Amino acid sequence: MKLRPIYEGKAKTIYEGPEAGTFIQHFKDSLTAQNGVKTANLPGKGIMNNLISEHLMLALHEIGIPTHFIRRMNAREQLIRQVEIIKIEVVVRNIAAGSLVKRLGKTEGDRLPRSIVEYYLKDDKLGDPMLSDEHITAFNLASPQELDDILSMALRVNDFLTGLFWAINIRLVDFKLEFGRIFDENGEMRVILADEISPDNCRLWDKSSNAKLDKDRFREDLGDILESYQEVAKRLNILYDLNQMA
Ligand code: 5GP
Repeated sequence: MKLRPIYEGKAKTIYEGPEAGTFIQHFKDSLTAQNGVKTANLPGKGIMNNLISEHLMLALHEIGIPTHFIRRMNAREQLIRQVEIIKIEVVVRNIAAGSLVKRLGKTEGDRLPRSIVEYYLKDDKLGDPMLSDEHITAFNLASPQELDDILSMALRVNDFLTGLFWAINIRLVDFKLEFGRIFDENGEMRVILADEISPDNCRLWDKSSNAKLDKDRFREDLGDILESYQEVAKRLNILYDLNQMA
């Protein structure tokens, strides 16, 4: 059956789902950085992200975070709930790295005084500019209630994932989340976690050596990208025999 694409992203394609209210999220092998300026194809990367994201979304569901994830369909695809994506990228930081280091002159690796949540406009053409709460509510990107829900979910996800990764000797340095709107059984609109959680949108450092196990290996030309993603999957105990997954 030929699937109808709904949205083509840099690392994923969203297709029409098999039933109303669903989409299929397909994980590609493409890697991009610097807002699409740097690109590469890394065979097998999409499979790793599909597995890792499935595992983390299921774990978050277990602790009561509503997510778009329904089930993994095969090695590269998962069935998700159809949401209206909120055009905000929510970044949570625990340790100084990436754009925070560049923008504020902090030292990479320094523990932040507390977890910091930042918002960016999801707009590649504008280079995802940073937003304040005021921009978000004034320009109706999200209502004050939605923003409250987003903030509390983002902090809860951070606490939970920090502990989950700590247990497998990995420091959760920072990560990016996206949220979507959905109508629940009572016809009420609510916000749920969407997109993916994987080494493409998290910074994950080995706790003992501080080795980077995420997309920074691509951004900084460190090599061993797929091996690092596989290492994360291995420590999460989800690296099955890939032949069984088709
Ligand atoms: P930074 O602002 O330091 O570049 O990124 C902070 C965190 O959010 C990093 O873990 C990074 O991977 C993630 N992140 C920020 N923007 C994006 C984006 O547009 N796409 C992806 N995949 N991750 C992002």
